[in-house]
Amino acid sequence: AKSEGRNRMSFFQSRMDETLRMRKMVEDDLRRAIKEDQLVLYYQPLFSADGTRIVGLEALVRWPHPERGLISPTEFIAIAEERGLVIPLGEWVLRRACEDGKRWPNLRVAVNVSPIQFRHRGFVESVMRVLEETGFEPSRLELELTEGVVVGDADAAEAAMIDLRALGVHLALDDFGTGYSSLIYLRRFAFDKIKIDRSFLESMEATGESAILVHSIVHLGRALGLIVTAEGVETKEQHRFLQALGCHQLQGYLFSRPVPREEIDRMLGLQAHP
Ligand code: C2E
Ligand code: CA
Ligand code: CA
Ligand code: CA
Repeated sequence: AKSEGRNRMSFFQSRMDETLRMRKMVEDDLRRAIKEDQLVLYYQPLFSADGTRIVGLEALVRWPHPERGLISPTEFIAIAEERGLVIPLGEWVLRRACEDGKRWPNLRVAVNVSPIQFRHRGFVESVMRVLEETGFEPSRLELELTEGVVVGDADAAEAAMIDLRALGVHLALDDFGTGYSSLIYLRRFAFDKIKIDRSFLESMEATGESAILVHSIVHLGRALGLIVTAEGVETKEQHRFLQALGCHQLQGYLFSRPVPREEIDRMLGLQAHP
């Protein structure tokens, strides 16, 4: 029994080493990928409530890895945050989205901002610098923030948000409803938009309660004069429900998956010449 215990320990020990080695590998590879411009941005269109018109785009980062294929951000953003890589990564994403955004006149481009990136000193300046260097119209940039940005120093977050709004940049509160104090944030901070978290739609069919919550969120958002967007729309039933509620914008696989920018060009071309 004793040796079995020892074996088990070394088993876990080696598993730990394995995990650490993996993280280190990801970190080194990611650092290189950012430096050597190997990341790519996909874009997922946001649609009008009737589902016929593209009204905006969300940039979503992808990492084409030579051995492991297209890696999803859910697998590397956390590591990037831990290792301080999310600052250069975030700036790369912002710059590329502003560059690409010039291809699509009149459309707003949304960029996800990690709380760590947002709280980093000099974030507002980096946004100003990128806007200046790319010549992208500030009012066509939308930053998607989560409640995490105000953890810690809420006053600093508020100041940064006021500065960004003064530049003309729009602010969206992402994953709305997943935190526990979203309502307080809506009252205090100057958002233009809320994005209802996908988890509400996922459970909507299963429980009537989720539908009631979505209903309340849409009405609350509209009453506050915010643009209300639902993400993760996958079924016609969800679409009908959200449209009937008065949701302004819809995003999800029902309409389009995130796609490379050339595919967006094509979709917009089709839209212009039906
Ligand atoms: P998010 O900001 O909530 O983005 C929405 C995620 O839901 C995306 O996953 C998108 O592909 C996925 N999605 C969209 N429609 C549907 C649908 O109908 N059904 C389902 N099941 N999923 C849908 P993705 O691209 O893997 O991104 C995951 C998360 O990674 C994002 O969640 C965001 O938090 C983060 N992320 C992505 N790109 C960036 C980035 O450039 N910077 C930062 N800081 N975070 C990013
Ligand atoms: Ca988002
Ligand atoms: Ca979201
Ligand atoms: Ca999410």
